[in-house]
Amino acid sequence: MTDLDADDPLAHLRDHFVGTDSDLVYLDGNSLGRPLRVTGERLRAFVEQEWGGRLIRGWDESWFLMPEVVGDEIGRVCLGAAPGQTVVGDSTTVLLYKAMRAAVALRPGRTEIVVDRDNFPTDRYVADGVARECGLTLRWIDVDTSAGVTAELLAEAVGEQTALVVLSHVAYRSAWLADVPALTQLAHDAGAVVLWDLSHSVGSVPMALDAWDVDLAVGCTYKYLNGGPGAPAFVYVAERLLDEVTQPVQGWMGATDPFLMGPTYAPAGGVRRMLSGTPPVVGMLGLQDMLALIDEVGMDAVRAKSVALTEHAIATSADLLPDTTLASPRDAERRGGHVTINHPLMREATAELWRRDVIPDYRDPHGLRLGLSPLSTSFAEVTRGLETVREVLDGLTP
Ligand SMILES: *Cc1c(COP(=O)(O)O)cnc(C)c1O
Repeated sequence: MTDLDADDPLAHLRDHFVGTDSDLVYLDGNSLGRPLRVTGERLRAFVEQEWGGRLIRGWDESWFLMPEVVGDEIGRVCLGAAPGQTVVGDSTTVLLYKAMRAAVALRPGRTEIVVDRDNFPTDRYVADGVARECGLTLRWIDVDTSAGVTAELLAEAVGEQTALVVLSHVAYRSAWLADVPALTQLAHDAGAVVLWDLSHSVGSVPMALDAWDVDLAVGCTYKYLNGGPGAPAFVYVAERLLDEVTQPVQGWMGATDPFLMGPTYAPAGGVRRMLSGTPPVVGMLGLQDMLALIDEVGMDAVRAKSVALTEHAIATSADLLPDTTLASPRDAERRGGHVTINHPLMREATAELWRRDVIPDYRDPHGLRLGLSPLSTSFAEVTRGLETVREVLDGLTP
């Protein structure tokens, strides 16, 4: 162990995760978090007792309300959101679609959706589809791919034509950490609605959605919330919008009384109206374990470890990999939980790193993305990973 691990008050939590006793270096927890050991037990118990034992009675006993119960827990532990505004539902992409349609419906007569060119592909594609469906135009913000959307850039893009602004809290490529309250205020000053994508920040960066006056937000649970592959996403709708908000997939589970099986759709009161079909109960099991662990230590401690890990990755890269360039913000206050370093041979290097059980991610152009999941990553793991990057790059350069 390096001194950093010895001094890390959260170091012992690494043992709670499956696979951390092996030599594999995992630097992609921002794409898929490692499972917690207790999740294995929770899944088995669910199959044997709840699903196998309670059978269809499970819906009345707890499953029906799980989207709201787990949503409130995400809100409390991670989002700074009071209960009744967050619900767990479909995939991130589908919830982005529903939230974008909900947002533009709140601003009839306005003609534009503002989105940045370096936003995550699914955000850009869904915004494009929603614009086409609703007869709106996209207004693109050009950004530096080593940074992200600033107040200056947003101020130039919004105006009285703007219905909706779609932004990511942490940029998936550079890790740029957007100033949510400032950008939200700018959009509001122009009369627009803002939708924040929290996929790369929830469980890594503390937030205060209620205090920041956020309108709508969507986030992923299989990254820093360790819910497992394809775990369902969540949507947040500010309480002040709940009576007005409508969404396009009017399914029975988002209706007033699903079991009345009535002739027409009437939206449920509250955030439940964002739901459409039967809740993904099994998919909500794993993330509850991670929420409990984060709750134990608190998001501020998680963030402190995250900052220390990214600082360590940047310093070690500068030391061992002077031939790479940092493609993430150097200022920790503007940086989320990952670090991207560029080198012309990174695509080839990543393939070789995976063969050697060192698992970062690759992002064009030439970026090695080091995702440092705060509770499951050790400082020594980061060092070992970057030492291997050095060996691999040396092997590739004649
Ligand atoms: C990971 C991620 C998504 C994922 O969307 P899925 O529908 O779960 O595939 C969306 N947006 C951002 C910003 C992401 O980082």
